[in-house]
Amino acid sequence: MFPIKTFVSERRAANLLEQVRWRDGVYCPRCRGESVIRYGSYRVFQRYLCKDCDRTFNDQTGTIFEHSAVALRKWFLAVYTYIRFNTSLRQLDVEIDVSYKTIYRRVQRFLRALDAPQLHLKGPVEIDEFYVKAGLKGRERDCWSRSRGLSTRGRGTFAEDKPPVFVLADRGSGERYVVPAKTATESRIRLLLADRQQESLTVYTDGFRAYEPLEEDDAFTREYVVHGDGEYVDGDVHVNTCESHASLARRWLSPHRGVSKDRLTPYLRAFQLRREVFRKPGKEALKTILETAL
Ligand SMILES: [Zn+2]
Repeated sequence: MFPIKTFVSERRAANLLEQVRWRDGVYCPRCRGESVIRYGSYRVFQRYLCKDCDRTFNDQTGTIFEHSAVALRKWFLAVYTYIRFNTSLRQLDVEIDVSYKTIYRRVQRFLRALDAPQLHLKGPVEIDEFYVKAGLKGRERDCWSRSRGLSTRGRGTFAEDKPPVFVLADRGSGERYVVPAKTATESRIRLLLADRQQESLTVYTDGFRAYEPLEEDDAFTREYVVHGDGEYVDGDVHVNTCESHASLARRWLSPHRGVSKDRLTPYLRAFQLRREVFRKPGKEALKTILETAL
């Protein structure tokens, strides 16, 4: 259920922030000291005094939500609806009555705070890539209009405004990962598969030649289907999980009307987070979302 109470009461929002932020105990954001005492309040936020460096701070200090004239409950609503429903930032501008620019900056800050996914592959693993048309989205300081890779067909690269995004589906753990790259090369693929739990990993791919060197390597058992030959499934050998996950990722990017290639990573981290909270009830989902960024 939608955690509506947190979005209408600033005090509830502040309590949740306090709970999530100090989940491992209160410490000073400046000197990391742990000898802190409660020291009045700042608006609805608890204020503290650090006995080591003698400075004060509050629940918001040093977080992505600090120094904002906009109420915390509105930021909570913004990040929640963004992750849960993939609300466009333009739409949020209307819903929470905060200017697009302000929302954009704060949401970008939130996205940058999201951790990179840890690939701890169990295997067998499906790996595949898809390519996103992503140029430089128009920014005011770049006087010229958008440049987007609209002409490259098939596989592209970051430089050609059509960066690859790798999709890994770990059948052993059930986890899925989406990782953008500059180019789809053998070395990039090896890097993606480097963190594995077993010595030898079974990898399912399509016929793309960048995966070929895996066959020579004892660390991998590569099996593949050649799509060009109309072969899509051969028993366990297929990359269908990757393909359906890729189509979800494409849909995730689509409301944002062309994501700048420089921002592909944070946008896809948000997609990853969305999957993590997908089945969670509203309150728990909001907590997880905040934990990831705080
Ligand atoms: Zn301190």
